[in-house]
Amino acid sequence: MYNLEISGGHEEIIDVAVIGAGAAGLSAALFLTRACRRTVIYDGGPTRISTIGKIHEFLGHEGITPAEFQARGRSEVDSYGGEFRSEAVLKIEPRSDGLFDVLGSQTQITARAIVLATGLVDVLPPVSGLREGLGRDVHLCPCFSGYEVRDKAFVAFGLPERLAQFGKFLTAWSSSVTVVTPYEFDPETRKRLRAFGVITVQDEVASLKREADQLVSVLTASGMELPCEAAFVAAPFKAASDLAASLCEVDEAGFAITDANGSTSRPGVWAIGNATDKLSHLAHSVAAGANVGPWIVDYLLESSLSSK
Ligand SMILES: Cc1cc2nc3c(=O)[nH]c(=O)nc-3n(C[C@H](O)[C@H](O)[C@H](O)COP(=O)(O)OP(=O)(O)OC[C@H]3O[C@@H](n4cnc5c(N)ncnc54)[C@H](O)[C@@H]3O)c2cc1C
Repeated sequence: MYNLEISGGHEEIIDVAVIGAGAAGLSAALFLTRACRRTVIYDGGPTRISTIGKIHEFLGHEGITPAEFQARGRSEVDSYGGEFRSEAVLKIEPRSDGLFDVLGSQTQITARAIVLATGLVDVLPPVSGLREGLGRDVHLCPCFSGYEVRDKAFVAFGLPERLAQFGKFLTAWSSSVTVVTPYEFDPETRKRLRAFGVITVQDEVASLKREADQLVSVLTASGMELPCEAAFVAAPFKAASDLAASLCEVDEAGFAITDANGSTSRPGVWAIGNATDKLSHLAHSVAAGANVGPWIVDYLLESSLSSK
């Protein structure tokens, strides 16, 4: 069934190494295993959603836990012969014959194609009280948790270039939104935020005050106390892995640059989910995995012909 080949008596060559076993990687692996391609999936650590309570905004999965989502996805891939390795990939070496040596923390294999599904890191500001409330009363995006805290008093802070849009967006969930930033918005932006009912405070967030394990206010560097029930952080993103940077063209934050089919600048290497698209939700990441599958199968078929 699978394209297993032993070259030189000891080297095991597989079809595809999928790096990352989150929504994107598992989705690609489901397609590839069902297309009878030998697929190894590297699971190098927790996924981005692993710390949240429930998944939202994902049709058919509303309210399930991340653990349940992961377990279902893994078991589906496993049922078609996907091979999981619980190790991080440290390095991928492109070879002159078009194959890739994949060096994991415990094992090494050679693959015909690579899928980078390594996700991203939310770079949280060093504000005391922030991590304690993360996923409960401190949130990174209203799409996933705005509904659960709707109509409460929000304070938003973080990346200046995202804050104007972020502040406006939050008014979909609450009419009480305060944006705190040391950055001075231009008069037109200030006017628009005012029109949406957003209060802007030109100051720096110093800490989040918690009482009985609940967020009660945001304290600023100049000593202001802004009462609130939920804080939203417009955090910067960076690529979770530097594998893409070692293999293909990346942007300034290390995200793989791809075309609409997930192809990177290096033939045989694809990137999907948050490894290339910072705004990809679970539904988009699953779709990206399904989208990339046929292109990889086609690539494998074409390369098998040219190597005959
Ligand atoms: C607080 C929060 C809440 C969210 N809630 C929702 C929600 O309710 N609904 C929704 O649709 N989206 C939600 N999201 C967005 C969601 O997290 C992403 O859409 C999704 O995780 C992207 O999937 P992915 O497979 O690209 O990345 P991930 O799920 O992060 O998977 C990447 C995987 O690759 C692994 N990895 C990285 N480097 C290596 C390596 N070198 N070797 C091996 N493995 C490696 C990582 O450990 C990780 O397991 C939320 C995000 C945040 C921050």
